[in-house]
Amino acid sequence: MAGPLLLLVFLFLSHASAAEYGEELLRRAWGEREWMVGARRRIHAHPELAFREHRTSALVREELERLGIRNRAVAGTGVVADVGSGAPPFVALRADMDALPLQELVEWEHKSKVDGVKHACGHDVHTAMLLGAAKLLSQRKDQLKGTVRLLFQPAEEGGAGASHIIKEGTLDGVEAIFAMHVDYRIPTGVIAAHPGPTQAAVCFFQAKIEGKTGMADTPHLNVDPIVAASFTILSLQQLISREDDPLHSQVVSVTYVKSGNALDATPGIVEFGGTLRSTLLKASTVCRKELKRW
Ligand SMILES: [Zn+2]
Repeated sequence: MAGPLLLLVFLFLSHASAAEYGEELLRRAWGEREWMVGARRRIHAHPELAFREHRTSALVREELERLGIRNRAVAGTGVVADVGSGAPPFVALRADMDALPLQELVEWEHKSKVDGVKHACGHDVHTAMLLGAAKLLSQRKDQLKGTVRLLFQPAEEGGAGASHIIKEGTLDGVEAIFAMHVDYRIPTGVIAAHPGPTQAAVCFFQAKIEGKTGMADTPHLNVDPIVAASFTILSLQQLISREDDPLHSQVVSVTYVKSGNALDATPGIVEFGGTLRSTLLKASTVCRKELKRW
């Protein structure tokens, strides 16, 4: 969170030398390391799935209250808080809080205590980092020439938590927002940034093609869903190459196909599914449209 926070320094804080101030802020952040690592480990040991982040949410609210930062729940398990003058400009910092339905296999002191759920995407880190930013900002709240809105978002891993907190007005009046994600491709201690959307939108699809089963030596008497599914799966690629703007980044992948296992009969049904990824700003609309078509 130090990266976004440093940007805020330049935006908001009046100081003779913003660079010097940035360095001081980094030093202070380092001083809070143990507290932040502790928060991260507590969250890591008790991971919670989308919209069930009750314990995480309670931890966040408790820490914010300890810092004297008033906060409120949003979209069920989300948390929103303002630091600063309470007046514009409003700039938001956002972190996600939910975990994934995966089993943690690494044996270590702070291993997930919840069977089949773990923080595999780093959202425990993000939540702890935003708490760190909250602490550093609250120590300087009188110097802020505006307001920093802290958004602890639920349900990033499916569930569209972002749209739920937006619907509740958390971005009303917000002029800029900084979000971040840990990334294993970037070495520890390095921060990479770019403007605009950075992660692809995701949607999943499932399809079922029903035919008429029959013996494989008389295919003309059957309705063969295997052939229909094969054509359909190949045609899906043409949605990207023939029907969408070549300048839009999209990927469609079929990830499973299920059907019968007889060698002498064509099946009655084929099921397949997969995912569509898109960096279009209105990706959700595109997803919905294409789902209907399929
Ligand atoms: Zn993630």
